[in-house]
Amino acid sequence: MPVSRHSAWRPIERRTLVEPKTPGSFIIRILVVEDDADIAKRLADGLAGHGFAAEVALDGEDGYALGRRDDFDAAILDLGLPGMQGLDVLRRWRKAGSEMPVLILTARGSWTEKVEGLNAGADDYITKPFHVPEIAARLRALLRRASGTASPVLRHGDIELDPASGSVRQAGQPVDLTAQEFRLLNYFMHRQGRVISQAELLDHLYTLDEERDSNTIEVYVGRLRRKLGRDVIKTLRGLGYRLG
Ligand code: CA
Repeated sequence: MPVSRHSAWRPIERRTLVEPKTPGSFIIRILVVEDDADIAKRLADGLAGHGFAAEVALDGEDGYALGRRDDFDAAILDLGLPGMQGLDVLRRWRKAGSEMPVLILTARGSWTEKVEGLNAGADDYITKPFHVPEIAARLRALLRRASGTASPVLRHGDIELDPASGSVRQAGQPVDLTAQEFRLLNYFMHRQGRVISQAELLDHLYTLDEERDSNTIEVYVGRLRRKLGRDVIKTLRGLGYRLG
């Protein structure tokens, strides 16, 4: 369980509201900080349908602590929270050096909240009432920008991956990947140039309750190499993998 790696934190009462629909596949992890439990559940349920796994924190302090764990790909942060306000959560994340993309939820018509939020380090905002497909699209855009590319299609060498349609091409030709292979490649494509450890991949391969097996990673990496070329993913002994 990721939370046990940080025993210095006070215990956090939390639960994963929604497990991804395809156990064993790669997961984009989203932190939702929202004190309205109904809205939080609607968000988490809705995002699961778009391939995201959401964990929910119902107040600012838990949200801050969870965000500092550094294994979320992005956060959705409500600004109106009891206790520690959303803006303070955001400022503290940024002060601590977190570069996690943050999408803030603001009240409709409150332009000052949007300005304050963006100035405090938010990457984008969405107003309530929201539509989940729009949030999913904005999250994908944030993840693209965090990976240093503005195009919806990710490119590496002659490989093109379209996260929205779930398709991959190499030298212009469609490549047939299983869902797991696609998610693994998608994860690598969003982190070009970075060394990715087995532990990080395992965090994104399994839900919290599943037994983790690092051999699975090697199997998927091997399949991607067979389909896309031996050098597509480099192994850095003792460190992990990197897109070739
Ligand atoms: Ca609220």
